Amino acid sequence: MDLEFIDVIVRGPDGRTVKDQRRIKLPATIGRSASSSVHIPDAPADMSRAHVELRLDASGSVVLRDISTHGTVYRGRRLLNGDSATLERKDAFEIRGYTVEVERMAIDPKEADILAAIVDSHGTTLAVYPLGDLCLVCLSIDGNFRFEVVPANVEFSKLFGEYRLNEKRPLFAVVAQEGMSFLFTDEEGIEAGVKRNRVPISEYQAELEPLDLIEIGKVRIELSRPGQQYQVCINPACERLNPYNPHVNCRHCGTKLQEARTRVLRARG
Ligand SMILES: [Zn+2]
Repeated sequence: MDLEFIDVIVRGPDGRTVKDQRRIKLPATIGRSASSSVHIPDAPADMSRAHVELRLDASGSVVLRDISTHGTVYRGRRLLNGDSATLERKDAFEIRGYTVEVERMAIDPKEADILAAIVDSHGTTLAVYPLGDLCLVCLSIDGNFRFEVVPANVEFSKLFGEYRLNEKRPLFAVVAQEGMSFLFTDEEGIEAGVKRNRVPISEYQAELEPLDLIEIGKVRIELSRPGQQYQVCINPACERLNPYNPHVNCRHCGTKLQEARTRVLRARG
């Protein structure tokens, strides 16, 4: 998966850390203005309000672009307005005497507490997200559902609030931390008919387990542990998830699992 988050440390001209900001979602800006993604406090006036921009390119590398009046120094090279440079996984550049250290957020899918597979109505897996450091958010945009991962260290009341400000509509979030998983939603998610194991949810917070099935519209989210084999019940009225064992019956509806499709998920590293 694309890791679209970075950690940023900014050191002042005297070497002291003036900003240590983690899990910043790309694209992001860094500058003097409080509206920059990374706001440098008490910065000199010759630092632009948004001095540089960082974004992912098509190959998944972080690209630094100068959008300032006075330029940026990258590895001894001066970048002027509109110039860009591709950064290494861990890299640094200089803006008006301030050193900015950028590091891609590292996520090892093997360390994920739980995997969330997005499966369409034909049973095709569209995406697999490792949850743990990240949580999965379902957004409703113009009647379609879109899934995004966001850092798990945000406060959920804020998460919903912030996404609202961006005019995105969050319906629910799936969070896994320290061996526990939860589904968070609000009245909108309940109204939209988010289901857990085929049953519409009625509360803002529900504890989840591996092999739970979450649904919104025709989209399924299948939760499993990394490498865990499971079977999807073939009874169309059920289609819930079972631990792999073709010799037993569905734990929910009793249908024989012999012919059931077996899945095992691994997140791409
Ligand atoms: Zn069943």
